[in-house]
Amino acid sequence: MTTVHHSTSPQAVDIAIVGGAMAGATLALGLARLSASLTRPLRIALIEAHVADNKHPGFDARSIAIAHGSIFELTRLGIWPKLKHLGTPIENIHVSDRGHFGMTELNAKPLGLDALGQVVELTKVGSILFDELTKSSVQVYCPAKVTALQAQQDGHVLSLDDGSQLHCQLLVAADGAHSVVRQYLGQTTEQVDFQQTAIVANVTTNQPHQHWAYERFTQTGPLALLPMQNMTAFSAQLKESSTQLKQSSAQLIAKGQSRYSLVWALPPTQADDLKNADKSEFLAALQHAFGNRVGQFVDVGQRVSYPLTLSYMPRPIYHRCVFVGNAAQTLHPIAGQGFNLGLRDVVGLLDVIEQAIAQTHGEVDLGSSNIVHQYLAARQQDRDNTLRNIEFLVRGFSNQYWPLVAGRNIGLRLLSWLPPLKRPVAQTAMGWR
Ligand SMILES: Cc1cc2nc3c(=O)[nH]c(=O)nc-3n(C[C@H](O)[C@H](O)[C@H](O)COP(=O)(O)OP(=O)(O)OC[C@H]3O[C@@H](n4cnc5c(N)ncnc54)[C@H](O)[C@@H]3O)c2cc1C
Repeated sequence: MTTVHHSTSPQAVDIAIVGGAMAGATLALGLARLSASLTRPLRIALIEAHVADNKHPGFDARSIAIAHGSIFELTRLGIWPKLKHLGTPIENIHVSDRGHFGMTELNAKPLGLDALGQVVELTKVGSILFDELTKSSVQVYCPAKVTALQAQQDGHVLSLDDGSQLHCQLLVAADGAHSVVRQYLGQTTEQVDFQQTAIVANVTTNQPHQHWAYERFTQTGPLALLPMQNMTAFSAQLKESSTQLKQSSAQLIAKGQSRYSLVWALPPTQADDLKNADKSEFLAALQHAFGNRVGQFVDVGQRVSYPLTLSYMPRPIYHRCVFVGNAAQTLHPIAGQGFNLGLRDVVGLLDVIEQAIAQTHGEVDLGSSNIVHQYLAARQQDRDNTLRNIEFLVRGFSNQYWPLVAGRNIGLRLLSWLPPLKRPVAQTAMGWR
């Protein structure tokens, strides 16, 4: 899909979003929904470098867990009803510490919920979000890359590699961990290198998952398993036809097997060895690290690796510019919070814009310092807390120093003995604001 606009003077828009993956696409759809209720509609542009196929870096073979709070927000934005059929509900989460006695569970039922969250495959989500964007009022530039940026007093001028130019009042950087907008504007990030690499793959076990997700802290790093739909699980990796997919799915169900999305954090050399190990060696190592709680691991799909760093902008704003999602902060996938936090950036920005439009009866400068700083203030506490908690989790649970080991085991056990204590943990896991 390409919408190309060639003209001598830059095309004027109110908001330009650079990056159309999870954060940028949901923001664009949220803005289009808001715009539909206004007497003067917003002029929204979205610039995305890749078409939504299985080579798209933001909509790759990864599966992610979308927390209960995020499902609520996506429903409010009218997006979840379009994605719902892709979701596998997580009804229970089991957290354990390998080789130690600490373990705990989070369960949906006692909290009065059907599910703690939903697992979705990003490839599938990407094509639906892009379909929705083409039907919306958003001007989509795709495939198109921002190749130059010029800050002006009343906005930014963006030059795209298709020759078009845009002038926007407010620039939103949703262009991921290596944000080019951040580089053009000379902004930097704070970095924490965890000296870990995550291996991500779809794995099959010989027992039904029954909607359990698992988080296991091992000596080398955390390991997470998310339950997946059998049928969708095959599609990204095996590229089978839909008939074959259905047959594969039916076979799995008949055999009582199930599919999980695995994220396994390891020291980089070990991750490299296991990524390249033959299938049986990999499955044996996984079985050893995880134990037998989900039965036997019987198959593994394509293995992909991601270096794990935490990087964040202390102040995710600039003159007439805000940063959302991975462009503002890139988290360790340990707690499955990256998109959940990114979505809270998106919702925070939408709330600020909606209030500003309501207060000024539509005559608002969307890139004003007021709006940019209101966004910063709205996001400060949640970002700080989430970043601190994740760094604590990664460091605390990768450490063999005995007081910490004892502390974390007692901590996990206490949580399972004292259900009321679980509520704040559940609140974080489920992304309730
Ligand atoms: C292994 C793993 C597991 C994870 N599990 C979870 C989970 O369970 N739950 C969860 O909430 N999160 C999870 N995450 C995090 C989540 O996947 C990310 O936070 C989220 O997908 C980031 O989306 P984004 O839109 O902010 O950035 P990105 O996905 O990085 O998208 C940036 C987009 O910008 C585009 N772009 C870049 N430069 C330009 C340019 N110059 N011009 C135009 N476009 C450009 C790119 O093409 C890309 O589409 C996980 C991450 C990993 C690695």
